[in-house]
Amino acid sequence: MSSALKAKAEYHKNGLQSIVRNSNELKKKILMREINIKKLVVVLKIQKSMTMEKLFSQSIEDLKNIYKFSEEELQILETVDKAADEIALSELKCYLERKVNKEGRNVAKKYGLFSIPIKKEYGGLGANHLVSALAEERLGQMSLGFAITFNVQVFLGGLSIQRWGTEEQKERYLKPAAKGDIMLAYALTEPEYGSEPTALKTSYEEVGGRYIVNGSKYLITNGSIAKATIVFAYPRGKQEGMTAFIVDTDSEGFNVAMELETKIGLFSSDTALLEFKDVEVPKENVLGPLSKGLHIAYSGLLNGRMAAAASSVGSIEDCLNASVARAKERVQHKKLIGMHQLIQRHIAEIAQNLEMARWPTYFAALRKIEYDKNPDDRELRLEMDKRTALAKKIATRLAFESADRAVQIFGGFGYSLLSAPGRHYCDTRATRIYEGTDEIMELKIASLVLGKEFEAYS
Ligand SMILES: Cc1cc2nc3c(=O)[nH]c(=O)nc-3n(C[C@H](O)[C@H](O)[C@H](O)COP(=O)(O)OP(=O)(O)OC[C@H]3O[C@@H](n4cnc5c(N)ncnc54)[C@H](O)[C@@H]3O)c2cc1C
Repeated sequence: MSSALKAKAEYHKNGLQSIVRNSNELKKKILMREINIKKLVVVLKIQKSMTMEKLFSQSIEDLKNIYKFSEEELQILETVDKAADEIALSELKCYLERKVNKEGRNVAKKYGLFSIPIKKEYGGLGANHLVSALAEERLGQMSLGFAITFNVQVFLGGLSIQRWGTEEQKERYLKPAAKGDIMLAYALTEPEYGSEPTALKTSYEEVGGRYIVNGSKYLITNGSIAKATIVFAYPRGKQEGMTAFIVDTDSEGFNVAMELETKIGLFSSDTALLEFKDVEVPKENVLGPLSKGLHIAYSGLLNGRMAAAASSVGSIEDCLNASVARAKERVQHKKLIGMHQLIQRHIAEIAQNLEMARWPTYFAALRKIEYDKNPDDRELRLEMDKRTALAKKIATRLAFESADRAVQIFGGFGYSLLSAPGRHYCDTRATRIYEGTDEIMELKIASLVLGKEFEAYS
């Protein structure tokens, strides 16, 4: 074993032991039973036989057939791989203890991850959508909880401000967010309305040259850790003219009403219910043109859906990795379970799911590079709507199915949050809901195929 690998194994071992040490007695017993350090070293050895994580590296190699990565882009991806490795331990610890992973955010900051797709002039690395999607893939492989934190910070938050913000807003919010000094949130959903943003109740009115915002926003990722939240609201008493505002979360009247700790997965990510009671927002904090909020919300969701698809590809990769390792070590009926053909079928299905999820995601990312160069091109915009909806619907659905199969391969241990498939099973369920449910994605795809006159909802 190389000394680097030994150090890595030691690092994980110490980390896992510290989880054990810091856990209560009952958890300690369970952890001691489930965590086998020896096996962990073997898994690490297999994983680290290549410089990068194997399946992630394979994604990049495959893409080289259709896309020429620059040295700088490859360097970014290597950095993401390294950072993901370093975040993994705190992520697992936080996941099991149901705590938001602050340490992971610090590591992401150290490696400059939050700056990846942000333009260089705003302190970013200026990576295009394909490279950014690959970064999200690697983070999703490590943990969907961390991936959604990253998604909202960068794809929904950062890129919305980059596209629609004034230079002053970029200075105040985008640059520090790219550095990882502040976190961002994106607040569209409300307790009463999610799939129907045109019915939202959060309102604003202009009073003395400022805007007064009232309402509540539900299920907001990064909601209680964000320094600034993009909030969508209608003029008071109207259901048209939605406007987007950047609201400082230290504003009077802003309140984190509840941290949603009872969710059934994504335990390391922050999800909150936010309240806005007569929150004063200065005019300089209107994001994009007044009354164009719906358009701004949807343009953010194009990025968010891309990221949701990419992180799901990563989740399938982790399920495949874990399933292959388990199939090669677990013996039942005097055979490795990987020798049983019904287990092979599960493995084959997960491998197929990975291929079926990757390519629509990569293709959407490649087309997004074109769209970002021509953001006013209506045809391209419609195509992006369809491609991102397709990628999101396909990848998230297949990720959930893959996690289910991986749980089955793991047997009883799969039904535990200590196993990777158990965690993916809980986490992937949410990906089929956030940033547009399965049903909304299907309706969107159908209307884009059939034509606008067939639109089933507005
Ligand atoms: C973990 C997590 C994180 C999230 N993070 C954020 C965030 O950061 N920011 C944010 O704004 N939101 C966030 N959300 C909210 C998410 O986007 C909404 O939950 C989602 O859009 C669905 O809205 P809803 O929950 O109100 O469901 P509803 O809209 O009430 O839908 C209920 C069901 O009805 C179906 N349905 C609705 N309309 C139709 C129709 N016309 N035809 C057929 N079926 C229909 C839906 O598909 C769904 O199955 C998050 C959600 C989760 C679970």
